[in-house]
Amino acid sequence: MKALVMEAVGRPMEVKEMPQPTLRPDGAIVRVEGSGICRSDWHLWQGDWTWLGFAQRLPTVLGHEFAGVVEEVGKEVKTLKPGTRVVVPLSQGCGVCEDCRDGHSNLCSKSLTGGGYARYARLNRADINAVPLPDSVGFEEAASMGCRYVTAYHGIMDQGQVKADESVVVYGCGGVGLSAIQIAAAVGARVIAVDLDDRKLELAKRVGAADAVNGRKTDPVKAVMDLTHGGANVSVDALGIAATCRNAVASLRKRGRHVQIGLTTQGEKGDVALPVDQIVFKEIRLTGSLAIQSHRYPAMLDMVERGRLAPRQLITETIPIEKAFSVIEKMSNFENVGISVINQF
Ligand SMILES: [Zn+2]
Ligand SMILES: [Zn+2]
Repeated sequence: MKALVMEAVGRPMEVKEMPQPTLRPDGAIVRVEGSGICRSDWHLWQGDWTWLGFAQRLPTVLGHEFAGVVEEVGKEVKTLKPGTRVVVPLSQGCGVCEDCRDGHSNLCSKSLTGGGYARYARLNRADINAVPLPDSVGFEEAASMGCRYVTAYHGIMDQGQVKADESVVVYGCGGVGLSAIQIAAAVGARVIAVDLDDRKLELAKRVGAADAVNGRKTDPVKAVMDLTHGGANVSVDALGIAATCRNAVASLRKRGRHVQIGLTTQGEKGDVALPVDQIVFKEIRLTGSLAIQSHRYPAMLDMVERGRLAPRQLITETIPIEKAFSVIEKMSNFENVGISVINQF
């Protein structure tokens, strides 16, 4: 099968002929029909997150956001059948550790995913982790439900607890940020989008932002303070650089909640200076948000089926696998607008 192969950090990736992944007794092989290109893969290609203990065994096939059809299941698999349309979640819990048993499989340290930049990929511990897809949801729009769309859903709904009468500011209008904007707007919140690129802000408005602030042209914190008369109820850092994290926290009103979704790059290596005294005086709450548990999918898919959420609106291009690396490369300069999905392998 064809796969996009990463052979070295920072070196161009190439499409090569690779062996199909082997089937594990409790796993499944999925024929990939839609595979989103998420910024996390750009981070891994850059060699980021070594400070978190992430080290890629090379060569490797990245791609952690995909949907397709179950081709084959292992002999221990009881519930999942070949032919089932599925989303493969980024977080694939082990089912037996404390986090998984506690209902937080997204925090499972045995969660491993990847291999989506290829025709066939693995689903681990298939009985626990498979997410069947309703017939009305296409593979391309389902691809982002592997990572970015569900990550935003968890951040807005579970960690942020966003309500209809609240204001939400989202820093960074890439795939996660745009998803967060659409989901917060669907809940009824008033959403302010912040980015440095007018093209992304236009898309943010199309998917539900009430206001858009270009941080290159205006001080975004001041703009948010003015628009919300004293600060937003919820801030989301969907990017993960020092400036967006700090500005997001500084954009909150008293008792505001900050949701950190973006992971940092080499510049921060995980450390960002924050206005601690302000956090105390305003009683600001900080919360991280990581992927989502498989058991949260049905609630979100129900909203998609009813038309309350429309992940399809975030897709700006569908491409053959041969073009995937150019999308990853463009992420170095934040050139990409919306979500690119590979649909030809
Ligand atoms: Zn991702
Ligand atoms: Zn686990």
